[in-house]
Amino acid sequence: MNYTALINQINKWATELGFSQVGISDIDLSEAEAHLKNWIEKGFHGQMEFMHKHGSMRTHPEQLVEDTIRIISLRFDYSYKSVIPYQEILKQPNKAAISRYAMGRDYHKLIRKKLKTLAEKIKQEIKGFNYRVFTDSAPVMEKAIAEKAGIGWIGKHSNVINTKSGSYFFLGEIYTNIPLPISKKASFHCGTCTKCIDACPTKAIVAPFQVDARRCISYLTIEHKGEIPKEFHKAIGNRIYGCDDCQMVCPWNKFSCDSKVTDFLPRNQFDEPDLKELLSWDEKTFLKRTEGSPIRRIGYDSWRRNLEIAYLNKRGCK
Ligand code: SF4
Repeated sequence: MNYTALINQINKWATELGFSQVGISDIDLSEAEAHLKNWIEKGFHGQMEFMHKHGSMRTHPEQLVEDTIRIISLRFDYSYKSVIPYQEILKQPNKAAISRYAMGRDYHKLIRKKLKTLAEKIKQEIKGFNYRVFTDSAPVMEKAIAEKAGIGWIGKHSNVINTKSGSYFFLGEIYTNIPLPISKKASFHCGTCTKCIDACPTKAIVAPFQVDARRCISYLTIEHKGEIPKEFHKAIGNRIYGCDDCQMVCPWNKFSCDSKVTDFLPRNQFDEPDLKELLSWDEKTFLKRTEGSPIRRIGYDSWRRNLEIAYLNKRGCK
């Protein structure tokens, strides 16, 4: 098997499908495993029980998919320069700020479908190629895998950054049993910068590479169920779904690339929604307007909770 030719072919197919980068990782995630264990022991995962409920499957790919020896990691850019900058919305309390990745179509199905198409093309080329595809959908250490596969390094805010495209991208993985040549691990380029740590509105980045999810606005507005602790209400401002602050200040995002597809362009004016209008939505309207959007996943109760905090902040209530 000429693996160099195969890798070139995979790159070509991936580009045609809208991916921006491909890398190959082995399955030794021992370094990431130690980091994850430490993070969980500190309780930084909050209510995200799924972070440890699958045991060692997350850090041992061969336990999740038998016979896995390589992982194809792929980058899919989701931002657009034409979209109103997030920082502009943060300055307008009558508007609601939605994380950039969630303004358009739900990425889960779309990326998964593209990964499957790519994997099927490889399967036709190589006898015995077995695979399973993932995108934020199973116990997969996608950031550590991406770093090992050369897609980018894990920044101090714990997101993956690429020198040519910043950090506004989704990741996808193809687990496989074929001994593809391994890519060079991405090198670290944060240097002495601490912009993300300093900018975090709730001081959730408690140390480089250590995000206490229980303080993170992204976690609080999306993953956390029930009341959000009062101590974070003011800092939440008008952020009603996720938070892009740590990525927004990262110097590497000057280089972010436009997505190759239009699917992630804002729907329902989600790049600058009017807070009062969103508050007027009943559950039926919420379900209708968020059809095909990742926002729908949080459910109406969490949506209302987030909007009410933003509204109280607009009114200057304590
Ligand atoms: S803001 Fe600075 S420290 Fe944070 S991820 Fe970007 S380069 Fe690294």
